Amino acid sequence: MDATFQADVIIVGTGLAGLTAAMEITNAGKKVLLLDQETEENIGGQAFWSFGGLFLINSPQQRRMGIKDSYELALQDWKGTAGFDREEDYWSRQWAQAYLKFAAYEKYNYVSKLGIKLMFMVGWAERGDGLATGHGNSVPRFHVKAGKYIAAL
Ligand SMILES: Cc1cc2nc3c(=O)[nH]c(=O)nc-3n(C[C@H](O)[C@H](O)[C@H](O)COP(=O)(O)OP(=O)(O)OC[C@H]3O[C@@H](n4cnc5c(N)ncnc54)[C@H](O)[C@@H]3O)c2cc1C
Repeated sequence: MDATFQADVIIVGTGLAGLTAAMEITNAGKKVLLLDQETEENIGGQAFWSFGGLFLINSPQQRRMGIKDSYELALQDWKGTAGFDREEDYWSRQWAQAYLKFAAYEKYNYVSKLGIKLMFMVGWAERGDGLATGHGNSVPRFHVKAGKYIAAL
């Protein structure tokens, strides 16, 4: 490749993580160079194949369906699967807590501001044994984007 490109930030990986970071950085007025091992047709990484369900905690959709959810319950569910009982689990635990806080307190507004509307119904994903003390989600947390034929709340 002969072209030269001056960037403030180089992101390796054009999956959702890389694309979201690129959106945030360009919105802040910086130039981003995105690199990926795959071709341009594969932009989006795993998200290309993904169903696109959004994990949210205590959303308006859940409340409307009478689902009682909270950060604490979601953390208990996550620990029920992950364990986090070893010293080397420290950073995994920190990451889980940060992500769950985002999903409980910020994510709904974050996607709403992007103009994304969510379907009125919430489904199950990674249901596990369905118990708050066991593995998997103990309540439905799987939100789907509304569209032309899928009504928003
Ligand atoms: C079938 C399927 C269904 C799913 N359904 C859902 C769902 O409903 N809801 C949900 O929340 N999640 C779902 N997921 C998971 C979700 O899609 C992924 O967690 C998410 O897309 C991961 O994004 P990422 O950017 O972290 O990683 P990736 O999408 O894996 O992106 C990483 C990118 O980095 C590139 N890369 C890696 N190494 C290098 C390198 N050395 N040099 C250059 N480039 C490199 C890869 O080519 C890739 O493009 C699903 C996943 C699959 C496969």
